[in-house]
Amino acid sequence: MSTKIAFIGLGIMGGPMAANLVKAGFEVTGYNRTPAKAEQLADAGGRAAKSIADAVRDADVVATMVPDSPDVRAVLTGEDGVFAHAPQGALIIDFSTIRPDVAADLAAAGHEKGFRVLDAPVSGGEAGAIEGALSIMVGGAADDFAAAQPVFDAVGKTIVHVGPAGSGQTVKAANQLMVAGHLALLAEAVTFLEAYGVDTEAALRVLGGGLAGSTVLQRKGPAMLARDFTPGFRIALHDKDMGIVTAAAREAGVVIPLGAVAAQLVASLKAQGDGGLDHSALLKLIQQLSGRDQEQENQK
Ligand code: NAP
Repeated sequence: MSTKIAFIGLGIMGGPMAANLVKAGFEVTGYNRTPAKAEQLADAGGRAAKSIADAVRDADVVATMVPDSPDVRAVLTGEDGVFAHAPQGALIIDFSTIRPDVAADLAAAGHEKGFRVLDAPVSGGEAGAIEGALSIMVGGAADDFAAAQPVFDAVGKTIVHVGPAGSGQTVKAANQLMVAGHLALLAEAVTFLEAYGVDTEAALRVLGGGLAGSTVLQRKGPAMLARDFTPGFRIALHDKDMGIVTAAAREAGVVIPLGAVAAQLVASLKAQGDGGLDHSALLKLIQQLSGRDQEQENQK
């Protein structure tokens, strides 16, 4: 008998992840707040549910992929939510990026109701979700991690159990800190190279082969050069994540000076109304700080 998976939240990440679970042979029922996205899953061979209750009723595994801590809390603990309607013993896997303390609280609340709960935030972006090549950092019990392995294998490539409930989210917070810092420095490098009239495509190609090379450069460099800030990963979500890492670092008495600057840059873009752009739009802000946009306008 095949494993039945309910997938809640079929956005930029959840949509392709659910489609990959269908491809891997799971019976997938999707629920999305805006129904059209669930219809896309139905077209890909899954089933579209009209409510969370309908999606999870006979699920072995419930996967969630929604934006923020209050959203996961609402989906799991709400009156019409997962805890109220999923079968006892179901394995709940939250792929969203949320606060580590909230993840640990929700796991404890789920255990009390007889569920197995894992926090399993991902990295790799929309491309990683489409390719089924995400990095997945998992917090929770070792036997629950082992039980979830076939699900993880269908959506990810680097899958690591990092510790008890909430630890996956702690590792993801570190990931978001590093990505924001790296993106900001990439934006500064591109602005610097353009100011000197260097062939930036050639420059990024050679930089990519040296110590400065990275997945951030490889995936986001071309988008910056083309000024294509279609999300991807929205600035508003990265702003949420910088809030998570800033609060968690403070709680631990850890100082993150470069992270604090990166957090302010991300917050500034959001405040200027660019929360819907991809996080590669940090280039836009760095260019503004150097008066580069204006300079290019004046040359027209
Ligand atoms: P997204 O495209 O905005 O999708 C979010 C989904 O959640 C949408 O389908 C939305 O429904 C649904 N949703 C929002 N609030 C809800 C609520 N309160 N109850 C039920 N459903 C709700 O976001 P995403 O980019 O897929 O990101 C999802 C999570 O993955 C976030 O935690 C993000 O930080 C993380 N993440 C994203 C990326 C990336 O590159 N995008 C990479 C790694 C991790 P509607 O369609 O009705 O709006």
